[in-house]
Amino acid sequence: MAWWSRSKKLPPEPKKSVPKGIWAKCDACAATLYERDLEENHQVCPECGYHRRLATEARMRLVLDEGSFRPADEGLESADPLEFRVDSNRYRDRLKAATKSHGRGDAYRAGSATIGGRPAEVGFFVFEYMGGSMGSVVGEKISRQFERALEARTPAVVFSASGGARMQEGVLSLMQMAKTSAARARLAEAKLPYISVLLHPTTGGVAASFAMLGDVIIAEPNALIGFAGPRVIEQTIRQRLPEGFQRSEFLLEHGMIDRIVPRRELKSTLSRFLSWFDPTAEADDRVSGRSVHASSSANGA
Ligand SMILES: [Zn+2]
Repeated sequence: MAWWSRSKKLPPEPKKSVPKGIWAKCDACAATLYERDLEENHQVCPECGYHRRLATEARMRLVLDEGSFRPADEGLESADPLEFRVDSNRYRDRLKAATKSHGRGDAYRAGSATIGGRPAEVGFFVFEYMGGSMGSVVGEKISRQFERALEARTPAVVFSASGGARMQEGVLSLMQMAKTSAARARLAEAKLPYISVLLHPTTGGVAASFAMLGDVIIAEPNALIGFAGPRVIEQTIRQRLPEGFQRSEFLLEHGMIDRIVPRRELKSTLSRFLSWFDPTAEADDRVSGRSVHASSSANGA
């Protein structure tokens, strides 16, 4: 027998992680949580209120009226004009893999729907799809969403969760910032409301364009919102950044957003805002909408 062979089996290492699929650990308070409870609570920790990532499909179910969503522009696909590749990894193959895992339509789901009975043109970033990055398809879908809102004279609502512009499409991705902002401006000229909902994380070219151009900008608690990452900023300005920098609470305090809305109140809040903006809404609804606006002001918005 070789000298390094073991004479007896070592006892198995005690398991430190919680079994996947049944239990989950809260990243904020480390509480062990039952997955089914988390699902019912829309991925918000019942112990400390920490908002975990909510899959796009689940968010659509959470905020849209059941069966009201009519998708648009699902067939748009990137033409990969730069034939981009890093070593042997082709952008084209990454797109194929992402589409296989997360469905067609690139990193954005758009269409018309109702929220609490109020019609709107809605759009959701799919963060699961290449980090919700904005290339030519995402930019085109957002622009078309604003154009549909203009045509139908309905409000537009965008739920952003993105790492920013998609580097694999180079300057064509950056161009989407100007294109979406121009489409958003046409909506403003027509005096149609646009509500921007910022989810964790909303960064880069998305934060630097239409996402921060809402008539009303709301965010989920503790979402990371900003252009460049904190490390890049610290290295550039050679200063330490304050506590909580680029989080929703910091942005609210500094007047960059209007309101922080916990996930369980997202649908009712949006529905009240939409009713407040809706010229055909009943007077009673508008009064309740006005009270929302007043409490938003009280929050320092
Ligand atoms: Zn927790």
